[in-house]
Amino acid sequence: MLASSAVREYLTNVWDGVRTTLVGMRITGRYLLQKPITVQYPDERLPIPDRYRGIHYLEQEKCINCLACARACPIDCIEMDAIRHGKELEWVSFTLDYQKCMFCELCVYPCPKDCIHMGTEFAYVSFDRSEFVHDLLSFKGMAPDAKVRMREAKEKKALKEAAKLAAKQAKDESEGNGDGD
Ligand code: SF4
Ligand code: SF4
Repeated sequence: MLASSAVREYLTNVWDGVRTTLVGMRITGRYLLQKPITVQYPDERLPIPDRYRGIHYLEQEKCINCLACARACPIDCIEMDAIRHGKELEWVSFTLDYQKCMFCELCVYPCPKDCIHMGTEFAYVSFDRSEFVHDLLSFKGMAPDAKVRMREAKEKKALKEAAKLAAKQAKDESEGNGDGD
């Protein structure tokens, strides 16, 4: 009697082992046929939502150096330097200190030219703290076509002044002739 209950218990244990193995293998088999959900970062990256607040980017050609973004920053991490030549700007620097930035986006909203944005880049690592003061300029100095625009404006001004002078001289002459009559 004792032997038969021991055999029954043994067989039950064997059956439980087989059954639970089959249950586990069924789950394994289901995932075996699916595409993996992991990505091989950094070679592969998941899509980043457009509203993500990552490293900023600047559309430098549109920027007018008005400082509105720097003034809006609650922790003063934006600094810029540019020399003005009439309407044109000669850019020296436009830096953002990522040791301080808290990615709040408050610098983006007041921009009158809509030219500073939060980007989708998030991996910004370095062993050197000084590298976290990041220059957002895509070029230094003047915009590639700014010198042409300046020369054209100068020529236009010179022509205008010459026309004005000629008109004045013509007026003086006609007044002189009038006096003689
Ligand atoms: S995201 Fe916030 S903290 Fe960073 S620069 Fe803009 S305003 Fe300053
Ligand atoms: S607010 Fe806009 S236009 Fe003004 S300095 Fe900043 S980025 Fe340039």
